[in-house]
Amino acid sequence: QMPATTSWNFHLPTRIHFGWNRLAEVGGLARETGATRVFAMVGRSFLARVGGEAGVVELLAPLAVTIFAEVEENPSIATVDGAAALCRASGAGVIVAIGGGSVLDAAKGVALLQTNDGSIRDYLDQVKKPTRRGLPLIAVPTTAGTGSEVTPFAVITNPEKNTKPAIAFPQSFPDHALVDPELTVGMPREIAVSTGLDAFTQSLEGFWSTRATEMTRAMSFRSIVLLWRHLEAACLDGDRAAIEQVALGSVIGGAQMGIIGNTALHPLSYPLTLGHSLRHGLACVIYAPAFLRFNAPALGPWFDDLAAVLGVSGPEHFADALTAKMERLGAPTRLSQIGVVRAELPEIVRTGVGGSTAANPRPLTPDDILKVLEGML
Ligand code: NAD
Repeated sequence: QMPATTSWNFHLPTRIHFGWNRLAEVGGLARETGATRVFAMVGRSFLARVGGEAGVVELLAPLAVTIFAEVEENPSIATVDGAAALCRASGAGVIVAIGGGSVLDAAKGVALLQTNDGSIRDYLDQVKKPTRRGLPLIAVPTTAGTGSEVTPFAVITNPEKNTKPAIAFPQSFPDHALVDPELTVGMPREIAVSTGLDAFTQSLEGFWSTRATEMTRAMSFRSIVLLWRHLEAACLDGDRAAIEQVALGSVIGGAQMGIIGNTALHPLSYPLTLGHSLRHGLACVIYAPAFLRFNAPALGPWFDDLAAVLGVSGPEHFADALTAKMERLGAPTRLSQIGVVRAELPEIVRTGVGGSTAANPRPLTPDDILKVLEGML
C-alpha cells in the first residue's frame, strides 16, 4: 500500500481570490503592483462579454491599457514571442490575463520573457532557465478549468515538432488568481464539459499520484467530490449553484496540481489533441476509466475513503460510473470514436510519455500503456 508522502512542504505563491462578481477587483489588484500601464491578454469570449476593447479599458482604468486578444487555443511559440514583444513595447508593469487555460498559459510565457531574454522556445527546450521573476501576473480564468491560474505550468505548442512542451518554473506562478464563477456562466456546453473533465482528471491524477502528500490529497479529494457531484448540473443545466461548485473544484484541484503535477494521463492527451483535434479535457479524461482499472492494484485504503464518499464500490465500479457520466456529458469514451486506429497506437505511446508518467501509482512500461490503449479502441 502506498501512503501519501509523509514528509512534505506546501507553498502556493499565488494569492487566490474566489467569489461571485469579484472581477471588479482586478483593476485594484493591478494598481497594487505600482504599475501605471497594464498589458491585458484577453480571450475572445471575454472581449465579447464586456462589449469589446472599451470594456477592458474601463475595467482596468485608470491604468493605461494595451490589449492583446490574439491567443489561439493551444497557444504556439510564435504567439507567445509575438505578444512578449508587444508587451515590452507597451512599457507595461503588470499583466492581466483573462481567458481559458490557453490565454493564461500564454500570459505566463509573456510575463517570463519581460525579465528574461530569448524566445519561449529556449525555456521550453530547457536551453535556458529564468534568472528573474517575470512581470507581475494576475490570472482570471473564464473556464473551469485548467487550474492554470494557480500553477507554474504553461503548455505551449511547438508546431514544427508537433509537441506540447511546458514550462514549470517557480517564477511562473501567477501572483494573483481571481476566480469569479460568473465568468464561466454561459460557456458553450462542449467547452464546459471539456474543461470540467480536465479539472476532474487533474484531481484524479493528483489523488493517486506517487507525489501526493496529505495536504495535496485533502485538496484533490475535495475537488473530485465537488466535480463528481456538480459537473452534470453545471454543464447540462447551467445551474448557477453547480457552476460555483465546479469553479471551486477546479481551483482547489489546480492548486494541488501546481505543487505535485500530473501522472500518466495528461502526457497521453497531447497526441490526441495534436493529431485528432480533440479538446484538451476530453483528451485527458478519455483515459481515466481504463487507468482506474489498470491502477486498481496500487490504490490503497485512502482510495476506499474516496469511493465511499462517491458511492462507488471500488475502482472497477468507479470506472463504469465515470464512463456513464462521460456518456451523459457527451464526451467520447473510446479511442475509435475519435478516429484513432490500431496502427497509430505505438506512436501515441511514444509521444505520450512525459515527465509526469513516472508518478503513476502503478509503475508502467510503454508496453503496459500500449495494452491499456488497445483495450480502449
Ligand atoms: P482554451 O483556453 O483553449 O479555450 C477553449 C475555447 O473556449 C476558446 O475558443 C475560448 O475562446 C473559449 N472560451 C474560454 N472561456 C470561455 C467562456 N467563458 N465562454 C465562452 N467561450 C470561452 O481552453 P482551456 O481548456 O481552458 O485551456 C486549454 C489549454 O490549457 C491547453 O493548451 C492545455 O494544454 C492548457 N492547460 C494548462 C494547464 C496549466 O496548468 N497551465 C493545465 C491544463 C491545461
